[in-house]
Amino acid sequence: MKQPLNALCALLVGLTIPACSEKPSGPVTDSDTLSVESGATIDSSSGDLTPHQQNAKDFLHELIEIDTTHPNGDNTAAAQAMAEKLLAAGFMAEDVQVLEPAERKGNLVARYRGRDPDKKPLLLLAHIDVVAADPADWTLPPFEFTEQDGYFYGRGVVDDKDEAAIHVANFIRLREEGYVPDRDIVIALTADEEGGTHNGVTWLLENHRNLIDAEYALNEGGGGGMQNGVHILNAVQASEKVFQSFTLETTNPGGHSSLPVKDNAIYHLADALIRVRNYDFPVNLNEVTSMYFGRSADMGGEYEEAMRGILQNPPDPTAVARLSEIPMFNSRLRTTCVATELDGGHAENALPQRARATVNCRVLPGESIDAVEETLRTVIGNSGVAITRNAVATPSPPSPLTPDVLGSIEAITEEMWPGVPVIPTMSTGATDGLFLRNAGIPVYGVSGLFSDMDEPARAHGQNERILASSFFDGQEFLYRLTKILTTEDIQ
Ligand SMILES: [Zn+2]
Repeated sequence: MKQPLNALCALLVGLTIPACSEKPSGPVTDSDTLSVESGATIDSSSGDLTPHQQNAKDFLHELIEIDTTHPNGDNTAAAQAMAEKLLAAGFMAEDVQVLEPAERKGNLVARYRGRDPDKKPLLLLAHIDVVAADPADWTLPPFEFTEQDGYFYGRGVVDDKDEAAIHVANFIRLREEGYVPDRDIVIALTADEEGGTHNGVTWLLENHRNLIDAEYALNEGGGGGMQNGVHILNAVQASEKVFQSFTLETTNPGGHSSLPVKDNAIYHLADALIRVRNYDFPVNLNEVTSMYFGRSADMGGEYEEAMRGILQNPPDPTAVARLSEIPMFNSRLRTTCVATELDGGHAENALPQRARATVNCRVLPGESIDAVEETLRTVIGNSGVAITRNAVATPSPPSPLTPDVLGSIEAITEEMWPGVPVIPTMSTGATDGLFLRNAGIPVYGVSGLFSDMDEPARAHGQNERILASSFFDGQEFLYRLTKILTTEDIQ
């Protein structure tokens, strides 16, 4: 899953840039191709690519044309294809492994040896499975790599085969340049991030932790935003909310509906849900969201004052009220719980014996699920409403924004796109970063891959595409970042 636009749109709302409107992701139109002119700086078909850019493009091409859709797609074939590139470039077989927990669910783990084997490695993570794409919905064939009007098209070009191709091409570039990192660098290209029962990250953590253990990891989840060809911001995802659903259930002896009583399972459940609706969890900012609001305020716009107000201690109530009206901001201010499913009664002429609802909570990292459940009990205030957890949540602590990591990202962003701010973000959904964070490996969603903020989100949608120039810029950004993070004496 890729969610950069969530974070970016939140900012855009604040900046009142006319973007992130709910445009359907439709077929390629004239306006689509016209918008290319503003952003495209590289015509990759004209043959002026460097050998390393050509590698990245070729690898992406090959990955797109291997269908890795769950359940029949062949992740192993995609992992194997990238393994062969590394072996051909001279990496040793023992450092390039395709590990297959189940048929077609292979993961590639490749290691670039550094100077100090005792230093914990840098992990570069990308998933190579993709969301299903129905060719009938696309105007271009989703499992063919198409280059058109300055864009690369195909399922996975932004989520997340682009980063997979880039990491492999950058490994080869670093090797050809004779680069010796201060520690090992590990690439993991994994299966079943988008669904399926063989999530590569979970499986590797459980079965081959030593292969992917790292000081920290770079992953999807961040990305840049631009508008009319102008780079606006570079987002770094350093935190994710925790997913926890609860079932609320009421029961009653029931009876004939011609003899109604007020004591009714549906009414009790409805009362409980209205109380949940009316309750707002307290505002609770962490390091990541504080920086998110602070730096967003620095960019100016309609919500600047409210964003500054929220950072006061205690937060200014007017600012809280203002930002709470915007779902993208509200969800970053607090834990949220919302009714999502409803089921009750057994006959139209009977008093209900049972009513049930699902309440889905997105819990701020650092807040306990026990506390959220206790809050729900208190808010509902009716011991006749049974509250149970639907699953055991996986905690996901925020990754610390250390000067080494954040400073390096800022320095390279400034080199490549002077004046463009780096904005730390917290995703309200989850990526594979969840499992690594839970295992004690910090994760930063950062790519330097910019997308147009006016563009409908095409990851998971139709005619998924990436601007060729953004792809190559992202490749360069990740090359520099990989290097700076594995070079001693960085400041
Ligand atoms: Zn993804």
